[in-house]
Amino acid sequence: LFVVFEGGEGAGKSTQLAGLAERLRDEGRDVVVTREPGATGIGERIRSLVLDTAVDEAPSPRAEALLYAADRAHHVATVVRPALVRGAVVISDRYVDSSLAYQGAGRTLPVDEVSWLSSWATGGLKPDLVVLLDVDPGTGLSRVAARNQAADRLEAESVAFHERVRYAFLDLAAADPKRYLVLDAARPADEIAERVARRVKDLLGA
Ligand code: C5P
Repeated sequence: LFVVFEGGEGAGKSTQLAGLAERLRDEGRDVVVTREPGATGIGERIRSLVLDTAVDEAPSPRAEALLYAADRAHHVATVVRPALVRGAVVISDRYVDSSLAYQGAGRTLPVDEVSWLSSWATGGLKPDLVVLLDVDPGTGLSRVAARNQAADRLEAESVAFHERVRYAFLDLAAADPKRYLVLDAARPADEIAERVARRVKDLLGA
C-alpha cells in the first residue's frame, strides 16, 4: 500500500505521517516512511540544491522541475518500489502532486508537461491514497514562521503563489475523489489522525 501526504507549508504533514506510521507499526506492519525531496543520498543533495540555494541563485523553474523529477525517479527506483514489492506500507511526505502544484501551478509551468515528466520519472507509479491536508496559506505560513524554517525562501514566494498551490492540490483531489482524503488541517490533530487511520484501515482490509 502506497500512501502519500500532501499539503502546503505548515499543514502538519510530518506530524500526521509519523502518527500513522506508529499506529501501523504497533499493529506489526512493515512500514517505510519516506519523503520528497531528499529520501536518498542523491535526493539529499538535490534537496539542498533546490532548497538551500540563495534566493538570487535559485534554479530556473524548468531546472527546478527536472531536479525534483530526478529526486523522484531515484526515490521510486531505490526506496518506494522495492518496499512495495516486499509488501510494506510506504508512507511518503510529498510525491507527484507536489510537483503539479508547486512547479506546475506555483511556478506556472504547463501542468500537463510536469505531469508527463513525473510519469516518466516514476514509471507511472501512483499512490493508493493521497491524504491532502488542506491549509489556508496565511495559517500555514505563520505556523512555519513560528518554527523559523526556511524563512527567506518562503518569503520570496508570494501569498498568491501559495494560493495557486493550494487550489491546485484541491483540484487534483476533486478530479479523482476515490484516491484522495481531503482534510481541513485546522482541525485538531487527533481528529485528523483518526480519519486517516480509518481510511488506511479500510484500504488494508483490516
Ligand atoms: O515538505 P517539506 O517542508 O520538506 O518541503 C520543503 C519545501 O520544498 C516546501 O517548502 C515546498 O515549497 C518545496 N517543494 C516544492 N516542490 C516540490 C516539493 C517541495 O517546491 N515538488
